[in-house]
Amino acid sequence: MADITVAVKWQGKQFAITLPCDADVLSLERLIEAETNVLPSRQKLLNVKSGPKMADDTALLSSVKLPKVVMMMGSTEQAISSIAVAAEAAPEVVDDFDVKDEDVVVDVMSNPENIEKLNKRIAKYDVPPLNPPRDGKKLLVLDIDYTLFDHRSTAEHPHELMRPYLHEFLTQAYEHYDIIIWSATGMKWIEVKMKELGVLSNPNYKITQLVDAMAMIEVAMKPYGNFKCKPLGWIWAKHGGRYSEKNTIMFDDLRRNFVMNPSCGLKIRPFRKAHMNMDTDDELVGLTKYLLAIKDEEDLTQLRHSRWERYLEKKGNPHISRME
Ligand code: MG
Repeated sequence: MADITVAVKWQGKQFAITLPCDADVLSLERLIEAETNVLPSRQKLLNVKSGPKMADDTALLSSVKLPKVVMMMGSTEQAISSIAVAAEAAPEVVDDFDVKDEDVVVDVMSNPENIEKLNKRIAKYDVPPLNPPRDGKKLLVLDIDYTLFDHRSTAEHPHELMRPYLHEFLTQAYEHYDIIIWSATGMKWIEVKMKELGVLSNPNYKITQLVDAMAMIEVAMKPYGNFKCKPLGWIWAKHGGRYSEKNTIMFDDLRRNFVMNPSCGLKIRPFRKAHMNMDTDDELVGLTKYLLAIKDEEDLTQLRHSRWERYLEKKGNPHISRME
């Protein structure tokens, strides 16, 4: 049998690997390890597919779809341990609140002072949309840090910190949802990050709007004190009633960010330590399923998004996650 030569690209380097036709994906990964020092278990061969799915280690190369250049993502053990040490040295304090605080949340939402603050934000702050909203679409609002991107780890290229399946997720969501990205940082940073990740130039979807920290309001909630949150009312007011709590869903790793709109929020599992979790994190695959499963629901407030996995199970389309 003839040999196969595969071009592989990793961290900007490209090299060729030749192996027999009847070799499997794992053999390819072992040879890639010899070139890169990245263990096979850490390697992600981005565009090597077996049908619609990523090919697994046992698949024969002759049976998988091999692109012209195989993109490999993965880090050496050395890089991973140095990042882990840095992360240990700088632990992050996350002061999110508990689901049990539902009554207190209702007080925050209906507090006239907070509603007044929201109205002021609506009147004083504006960001032009990047793309017009589309008729008949629901709205998906996405956080960036730890939701789509691990902003705490370091890497040569931001792609290495991107949550796995981000573009696939956005592509599929876009069919039924307008997408707005709202981050508690500055607009400059948001634009740079989204451009670097290719989110603003992907031909398969368009982002309706980027929203930054300036549209947030500060609220007080016992016993957590004062914090800033993302009131969806700001977005709704900017789009003339097109969106409302009935057709909006928001993903954020911090529950406090949707304290003004608890029924719209879905607390996503945070994506941290990208180098270690790149191989297993498939939260966006599951959430894609969920978005598609609820796309025809008339009133999203009837759902409890915290039980999204249960919802998929009930619909006979469970998300079997590889995350521990
Ligand atoms: Mg976040």
